[in-house]
Order: sequence, then structure tokens, then C-alpha cells
Amino acid sequence: MYRMRYIGDPVLRRATAPVTEFDKELKKIIKNMIETMHYQEGIGLAAPQVGISKKLLVVDISDMEDEEAKGPEAFLNPLILESSGETTLEEGCLSIPDVREDVTRPEKIRLQYNDASGKEHINEYDGWMARVLQHEIDHINGVLFVDHISPLKQQLLIQTEQIPEKY
Ligand code: ZN
Repeated sequence: MYRMRYIGDPVLRRATAPVTEFDKELKKIIKNMIETMHYQEGIGLAAPQVGISKKLLVVDISDMEDEEAKGPEAFLNPLILESSGETTLEEGCLSIPDVREDVTRPEKIRLQYNDASGKEHINEYDGWMARVLQHEIDHINGVLFVDHISPLKQQLLIQTEQIPEKY
């Protein structure tokens, strides 16, 4: 299990390195990340959120309503090739406890990524899967979901001390 990193921690803004070694060590990191995500009751977790500056994230939306149960999945070196549509949904983040805000993002994405064995895939996603993937891909690019809300809402969150002034 990993220790969570929270908003204000510089690791959340740091550049991440591509994953190039698909070895035992990587499988261990993925297993630990999935355990941490389940323990924290999250539906997605990106490596920077546990202090690891790598292009790696895990998702498990099997507990969400109206979604087919698939269990936890790891995405390495994810790259959005195309996106379309627009949808507004309320988001939260394990690194920003107790804050939930509406965020508008593309509805569908076409994603290129490697699986844990290094095999390359290109898949299309919509619904919650597309939403969670975009949120987690933001993390590996040093972006937080509160970067997407209006400056007025950001100021309110700072004033009520829900997020630090410098984040
Ligand atoms: Zn997050």
C-alpha cells in the first residue's frame, strides 16, 4: 500500500517519465496502486498521486452503476488520439479530499496505451470510463481537476481552506 499525496505536494505537478520496462517491478507497482485505490475507495489512481513520476494509472469502475464489471485495469503511457462530444459531470479526487465540482470534458476518447505486459492497444471509451481516464491522464500531465473550474470557484475553495493558496 502506498501513502497518498495531496494537493500542494509538488509531486502532483512534476513531469512523468514513460514506462519502458515491463518487468516484475512494474507489476509490483501496479498491484500496490490497485490495493491503494481500493483501500481509498477510489475509481482511479495515477502514479503521481502516490509519489511516483511515471506515465501509469489504474482504473476500476466495476462498482459504478450502469457499467459492465471489468475489474481493475492498468494503463501505461496513455495517449488520447482523438476526442469528441462534451459532457459535464461532478468530479472528485483522492488527492483533494471532500471537494466535488462539475467539470466539462469530451464525452468520448480514442486512447492508445500499453498494458502491463507492454502490448500496445488502441480502444475507444465513453461514459464513466472516458471520464475517469481523462481525469487520471491529467494527473500524469501534472494537471488537477480544480484547474478546470472557474477562477471564482477556485478562489472560494481557497477562502474556505479546502485547497491551499498555492497548489
Ligand atoms: Zn484525481
